[in-house]
Parts: sequence; structure tokens; C-alpha cells
Amino acid sequence: MKIVVIGAGPAGLAAARAALDANQRVVLLDAADDLGGQYWRHLPSSRPSSNEAVLHHQWTNFVELRARLEDDPLCEVVTSAHVWAIDRAGIHVLVGPPDGPDRERRTYPTDAVVVATGAHDRVLPVPGWELPGVYSAGGAQALAKGDRVAVGERVLVAGSGPFLLPVALSLANSTSTVVGVVEASRARRVASSWAARPWELVGARTKVAEAGSYAREFARHRIPYVMGRAVTAIHGAECVESVTIAAVDSSWAPIVGTEYSLAVDAVCLGHGFTPRLELAIALGCQLNDRRFVAIDEGQRTSVVGVYAAGEITGVGGADLALVEGTIAGHLAAGGRLDDEVLGQARRHRATWRRFAARLDVAHAIGERWSQWLTPETTICRCEDVTYQQLRTVARVTDSSGLRSLKLTSRAGLGICQGRTCGRTIESLLGAWSNEGGLIDGVTTDRRPIAVPVRLGELRVDSRDAATD
Ligand SMILES: Cc1cc2nc3c(=O)[nH]c(=O)nc-3n(C[C@H](O)[C@H](O)[C@H](O)COP(=O)(O)OP(=O)(O)OC[C@H]3O[C@@H](n4cnc5c(N)ncnc54)[C@H](O)[C@@H]3O)c2cc1C
Repeated sequence: MKIVVIGAGPAGLAAARAALDANQRVVLLDAADDLGGQYWRHLPSSRPSSNEAVLHHQWTNFVELRARLEDDPLCEVVTSAHVWAIDRAGIHVLVGPPDGPDRERRTYPTDAVVVATGAHDRVLPVPGWELPGVYSAGGAQALAKGDRVAVGERVLVAGSGPFLLPVALSLANSTSTVVGVVEASRARRVASSWAARPWELVGARTKVAEAGSYAREFARHRIPYVMGRAVTAIHGAECVESVTIAAVDSSWAPIVGTEYSLAVDAVCLGHGFTPRLELAIALGCQLNDRRFVAIDEGQRTSVVGVYAAGEITGVGGADLALVEGTIAGHLAAGGRLDDEVLGQARRHRATWRRFAARLDVAHAIGERWSQWLTPETTICRCEDVTYQQLRTVARVTDSSGLRSLKLTSRAGLGICQGRTCGRTIESLLGAWSNEGGLIDGVTTDRRPIAVPVRLGELRVDSRDAATD
């Protein structure tokens, strides 16, 4: 039996280990140059650092996992492996740099698949966010952790969710001064979601310790943390010079009269995560009503032989991804959910799912965030489509849904294929639909070609041999 695991973040690594523990052959594919996913993003092996361990939570766990997989002859680890399509022939991969001209084409037939493609960070548009000096929080963190590059001297981190904390610390540990972290959720909402039924979170006490360590580090770096506020505009002639911050109500609508300005030369924005669903959709997996891959207790998707784990099944952090991966890998390898070896993983999964549900309530995007947009705000950065243009096109063409709106305005059709603006456009359409009915059920999650490929790479020729 051969199991292909797509994604080598915490979920994929744990799935691969569990399948190897069951003595099955595993192919582990990841587009990145190294294993670890978003959580264990580290310096490349060509430029190691002696203090890598202090820069990551659970680093020892990662090092052990990596060694376990790399040392096992039953495991084939392929990095720089971009899975671009899946069909009956198997899993189609281009191996090499993301835009390299001579990438190797491979196709992996498989008995079972574990999809663990994770998520990317979501950024809501803000007037001025197209200025140089504005980064997604994840992008800024990747530069700080993966390349030791500081994105600015005076940096503000803003958006929502606990993810802002490690981002701010990664920046503070580079040469940046983090002038503040601005969290849009209000303190009362966050407190009430965490304080309810505290006994349910007893198993998640490591997170309390983590929160304590962030509090200490923030104090050491003198990073102010404010809640119930949002960056509502970014200013600068040629690059970022300052931001406007305003208090927001519980729906994230800015409160007039509360605005103030702060001088910065970089802003990092993060408003949660969007799951990377293209490959799961290509495999035919159903999504649930929260727009994650629908799974049962065995991490089985709606397609026989296809399992899913980690952030594509719900945003819950690395601990949840690890235990979901363990369960998915074990079942993909022919194991049973009630096998004793999964006892601890099942218990931990229940705890981390409760933790994830709290996160969701505490930091969900407020439904009236779009009140900080102006007519000139860019919504689709690739195709340069403004809020006003989008609204006008929708009205003039009487668009009844996302597909026609995309084709008439070009929003979402650029190089990122709607990864950045897709959910934003859907959310705006949802709000406008009260006025005219614009929804046709089409979403931006479906991308038959999952990653950018060159036209020449699509050519079918004698090089197109199946890899066994
Ligand atoms: C940008 C970012 C930064 C984060 N930083 C932190 C942090 O500092 N601290 C923290 O606690 N949590 C952080 N998180 C959240 C944390 O990373 C997740 O909870 C955890 O990594 C989820 O694990 P996963 O295995 O589901 O996904 P990931 O870790 O995201 O791994 C998914 C893997 O799938 C691969 N992949 C996706 N599509 C393809 C494809 N088509 N072909 C091949 N490979 C593919 C990706 O390259 C990636 O390595 C971050 C999340 C993001 C998005």
C-alpha cells in the first residue's frame, strides 16, 4: 500500500509518521524547500542557526519528526514538490523552484491520500494597503523567521487573532521596533468566549503557559497591545508613513471621533486564515457549511480513500493539526479509529477542537468591517479593481453572482487567482445581495490548476512518465 501525504506542516508530518508506524510506504510532498509548514518555518538547511530552538514552539518535536521520516526507507520525502492537479492517473507534481523553467514532472498513483495543505493568512482591504511597506502578517513573519529580514524600523501589527502575537515577536526579534499590536475584537467578546466553561479547556493548559510567555516577551520588548481597535487607513506618498487607528464596535464598524494617527514605516495585517482547498476540491471532497473540508471522526472525507487533517478542516493551531494528522495517517494506513494507539490523539483532539471553537468566536471577522473602505480602496490588488468599480460593475451589469462579477470586473482573475481578495469579494457580494440578490453559489475556492504552472509544463509528451 502506498499513501501520499500532501503538505509537510504539523498535520502532514504527523500523518506520515502514523502511516510509517503502521509499516506502510509513504510519499510526503511539499511545495516548500523544507519540512515544517507554516508553524515550523525556519532558516533553510543551507543557512542553519544555532538558536533555532528558541525561535519556535515545540522545536524538539519537529526535529524528531523530521528525523523519523527522513531515516525511514519506507518514506520518500519530496520537497519543492508543487502538486498542481489531481485526476484518475494520480497526483501530478512539478518538482523544482516555484517559477523554475525546468521543473521535473512526476505523477504519483496512490492507494490513499492525506490532504494536509493548511491555510494562508487572510487580509482585509484597508484604504492605502497597496502602498509599499504593507505586508500580510504571515508574509512579514516568513521574512523574519525564514530569511531574518526585517520589514521596517517602526512596525505596527494589526488585525485579529492570537496569530498576531508570534508575528509581533518574530519582528521584535529581528531589528524592527514593534510600535504596537492592534486587535479588532473587543476585550469583552474575547474574555467572555474564553471564560465560559473553563473546565473544558483544562487539557489546553499549555496554551495558558504560551499566553504567559507572550505577555512576558511583550513586556520585555515594550510592545503595547490594544483591543477593540482597527487600522482604518494607511497613508504615505510613495510608501507607508503613518496609519489611522480607530475604535471599532462589536461588528468592527469604526466609531466616528475615535481616530488617531501613528507614524510607522511598515504595517502587517492579518485577519485570520483561509484554508487551501483547491486539491481537496479537485479530489471531490465535500466542504462543510463553514467552508472547510468535511470530515468524520476518522478524518475521512466524503471521498473513499481520501483523508484530511490540519487547518483545511478548521483553524485550530498546530496542536490540533498534529493529532488530526496522527489519526488521518493511521486510518489511511488501514488502522481503526478505536485502536488503542490512537487513544491519546482522540482525547487531545477533543480538547483542541474545543479550544478552536473558542478562537472562532473570540476573533471572528465582524460583519461591518467594510465600513472602513472608501470608493477608491483597492479590493483586487492583482487587477487593480477598486471598491467603487466593483460596486458599479455589479450594478450596471446587474451581476447575479460571483462568476459574472469576476468576468466583468476582472477582480480575482489575477496572478493570485483570488487567494487574497476572493473571500473579500464574496463578503461584499453577500452584503450587497440584500439590495439586489447577487449570489449564485459560486465561490473562489475552486482552482482546477492548484498552483501557477507554465504553459510548456502542461504539454503532454514522452517525459510524462508515471512515477511508481
Ligand atoms: C502564514 C502563517 C504563519 C503562521 N505562523 C504561526 C506561528 O508563528 N505560530 C503559531 O502558533 N501558528 C502559526 N500559524 C498557524 C499554524 O501554522 C497552523 O496552525 C499549523 O501550521 C497548521 O498545520 P497544517 O499542517 O494544517 O498546515 P501548514 O503548516 O500550513 O502546512 C501545509 C503545507 O502544505 C503545503 N502545501 C499546500 N498546498 C500545496 C500544494 N499544492 N503542493 C504541495 N504542497 C502544498 C504547504 O507548503 C505547507 O507546508 C501560521 C499560519 C500561517 C498561514
